Parts: sequence; C-alpha cells; structure tokens
Amino acid sequence: QAKKNGRNQYALYHDGMGSDGKHLFQLETALRKAFDRGEFELYYQPQLDMKTKQIRAVEALIRWKHSGKGFISPGKFIPLAEESGLITPISDWIMMQACEHLKQLQLHFPYVKMSVNISPIYFQQIDFLEKLQKTIESVNVNPRSIELELTESAVMPHAEQSVARLTTLKTMGISIAIDDFGTGFSSLSYLHRFPIDVLKIDQSFIKPLSRYQEDLAIVKAIIMMAHSLQIQVVAEGVETEKQYQILEEQRCDFVQGYYVSNPLSIGELYEFLEMWNDFCEKVPNE
Ligand code: C2E
Ligand code: MG
Ligand code: MG
Ligand code: MG
Repeated sequence: QAKKNGRNQYALYHDGMGSDGKHLFQLETALRKAFDRGEFELYYQPQLDMKTKQIRAVEALIRWKHSGKGFISPGKFIPLAEESGLITPISDWIMMQACEHLKQLQLHFPYVKMSVNISPIYFQQIDFLEKLQKTIESVNVNPRSIELELTESAVMPHAEQSVARLTTLKTMGISIAIDDFGTGFSSLSYLHRFPIDVLKIDQSFIKPLSRYQEDLAIVKAIIMMAHSLQIQVVAEGVETEKQYQILEEQRCDFVQGYYVSNPLSIGELYEFLEMWNDFCEKVPNE
C-alpha cells in the first residue's frame, strides 16, 4: 500500500508519520477534519508578461494551515486527498473560492486571469464540466479570465475523452495550460491534437539555466516548438535575474517564480498588484 501511489505517498511516510495503514488513516481523518474546520486557504502567485511587464495571471496554490504543525505542503496532502476521495469536495471548494476571489480582484484589476490546478482525478469525473459551469454561473465570473492547469498525466490516459472535454472548455472560453511540461514521458503528438493555450516549463529545467548549456538547449527547443504551434510559454520557478534575462532572450512569454513574487495571501496580492500598477505607470515600457 505504501508504494502504491508512487513517490509522493512514500515521502509522506518518511516525515515521521510512520508507515502502517493506521497512520495513513489518521492523516486522512486529520485532512477531513481540517477541511471541515476551514484550515485550507488559497494563495496566489503572480505571473508576469515579459512583453508588457504586466501581471497577466495569478496561480491559485492551496495551503493547509495545520493548527499544530504549521504549513503542510500540497505536494504532501493532495496525493492523499486523491487516494481517499477527499479531492472532490476539496476541488469543488478550490474552484468556488478561486472564482469568488477572481470576481473581486477584477473590480480593481480587470486584466488579471486566474489559473487553477486541476487534479487528474477531478478532471476525469463525469460531472466535472457541469459543476464547473455551475460555479462560473453562480459567481458570474468571465470564463475568459479562467485558465486550468492540467498535467500530461491528467489528459493522456483517456486521450479521446480528454480532447472532447478540453474542446468543451475552449468553447466555454476557458484556456488550458499544461503544467510541469517536460517531466512527463508522453509523446509530443498530443500537443497539436489537444487545444492547448499555454505550456508551463517545469522548474527543473529553469533551475540550472544559467549554468548548463544543455538545459538552455531544452528550454530553447520547448519555446520554439510551442510558438510554432501557436502555444504560449510560462517559465516556472524563476528565481534569479540571470534566469530572467536568458528567458527574455529566448522570447519566453511569461515568467512565474520567487524573482517576481512568492505565492501571496489574497490580502497581500491586492497590495502587490497596487504596487505593481503604480510602478508600471512610473516606468513606462520602452
Ligand atoms: P505546481 O502547480 O507546479 O506549482 C508550482 C510550485 O512551485 C508551487 O509549490 C510554488 O509555490 C512553487 N514555486 C513557485 N515559485 C517558485 C520558485 O521560484 N522556486 C521554487 N523552488 N519553487 C517555486 P506548492 O504551492 O507547494 O505546490 C506544489 C504542487 O502542488 C503544485 O505544483 C501542484 O501540482 C499542487 N497543487 C498546489 N495547489 C493545488 C490545488 O489547488 N489543486 C491541485 N489539484 N493541486 C495543487
Ligand atoms: Mg500549477
Ligand atoms: Mg508546475
Ligand atoms: Mg509541480
């Protein structure tokens, strides 16, 4: 059981949780209680448009503020939520919360989009589209301002069904990003079969960017390929000015990472966007 769900699950056991089913069960129970108590919160990480220097979007990232243990990272509890079925109510909540925050944000910053990570399990559920539509309608938010982040593992296993689902999302006006691009092992042919708007280059390719020539070659190739397919590119995990400059030379479209900003609480995000706006007005684009 421990290794069933791969590395994430395994890593969980090495953080002092123990490796027997009882501890796993306890953690599931804790997760369920945390959800009921409202211990989850969405943080938002800005994404910078390198051409206009505006913030084009924010990515919603879930946080679990555990009463005793402080922050627990989504890399740890999302896999557990997926295994226990809790991913469904949690994802429903994420979608609703992200839409409500987007609605408020756009009163002040109408150009900002909201990007939401979608678990493969949630994406495959039969009522996924219907629930999403209902949420968008009830909040009355513009679907053109919503982007969904899916990994290759979310869309590849059921390619035919995924094409249909992604096409429906596109007709609704929603845009599609492929997250962690470059880490999957699937064939690249899906890129032109699926209606994809954005590729997010995984941070493992960005990290060594200033040091190794080979990684630059990969990043270069991804950007060129994406652009020739009319797909835009986000670089994830940009931390330094050097990385930023290299990505600018390579005509990367958008950057996200600590170099621009950490993920922020909704309150901090308002302050950040105000500050960024003021700054952009004072320093106009060349
Ligand atoms: P992701 O979607 O690829 O998110 C990017 C991760 O990189 C985030 O970690 C973010 O905090 C981190 N990051 C951002 N900038 C930098 C940087 O400059 N340097 C470094 N080293 N890291 C940076 P986080 O928030 O811990 O999330 C981890 C993963 O958990 C996400 O990867 C995503 O797969 C998943 N996740 C997070 N929130 C949600 C959610 O609401 N729903 C679902 N289904 N999955 C989520
Ligand atoms: Mg993401
Ligand atoms: Mg990613
Ligand atoms: Mg990731």
